[in-house]
Amino acid sequence: MNALLRHAVIDLTRILAVFVIYPICYVFSIVCFGPPLIFVYAALDGPETPEMAFLLIMGFGLAIFALSLAPVLLPLDFMFAPSLGARRPSMRERELLSRLEADYDAIASANGLPKVSFHLRVIDVDEINAYAYGRNGVAISRGVLELAKETPENWSMLITLLAHEIGHIVNHDTRFFAFLGTLQAPLFASIWILSQISRIPFLALLTILPLLGCWFAIASIDYILKLTSRAMEYRADAYALSVVGAERVLKLFDHPTFRDHNKGQSIRSFLVRSHPPTELRHDRIRRLSASE
Ligand SMILES: [Zn+2]
Repeated sequence: MNALLRHAVIDLTRILAVFVIYPICYVFSIVCFGPPLIFVYAALDGPETPEMAFLLIMGFGLAIFALSLAPVLLPLDFMFAPSLGARRPSMRERELLSRLEADYDAIASANGLPKVSFHLRVIDVDEINAYAYGRNGVAISRGVLELAKETPENWSMLITLLAHEIGHIVNHDTRFFAFLGTLQAPLFASIWILSQISRIPFLALLTILPLLGCWFAIASIDYILKLTSRAMEYRADAYALSVVGAERVLKLFDHPTFRDHNKGQSIRSFLVRSHPPTELRHDRIRRLSASE
């Protein structure tokens, strides 16, 4: 898949996801929250005209959409950090991370890339890994931080790892999933309310079908999004290549941490596997650097 096609596939899938998930989220929110909202409005002596009720519900839908944009536009990454296990760095880690940030910025600007704003957190795990999350957060494992202190080669490996994660930020991967997550929140609240209502006899029949339909639509779109995750990884690798150069990226892939252990898997898990096999990522970088 060439770079342009990869961008098109990922971005069209995302547009499709939003156009499916947003209407479902909107309709369900109206079904579950609309009547109580109108009731509260009427209780506050508002005019009970159908036009006003319509406007109220439209406004409610727009408010959901606006709230979904909050984690994309505002510095709310701390909300996502706990689920990842990411914490703020200690004083000595902060020293290390600001050196990392400075080194990264120097390499990126030497290679003609615009400055990217990001902030770093730490995850207390021994494995060598990093994760981009939220608007512009990157969480780095303690394992890789400890290792990076030891030798200049390991320090350079950490910068390469960071470049890949910054690739996810630049490509809006993490922003999109933060947006989708918040967009889905009222939907899941609606599903919970409907599932409570469905315990009442007869009403169950009315609610179970929309619930099933909604679940099917969301599950399908989530599945399609997962199919693009390997393309996202290749895209972030390509960004890392533009920051640190082929030699460093290839060296990172040769690190034992990135060795794949694959004893076979179902076709389904093969399709939704989040990362491509390291050997093929290696190939992709060699091909990309040769074509430059
Ligand atoms: Zn990645």
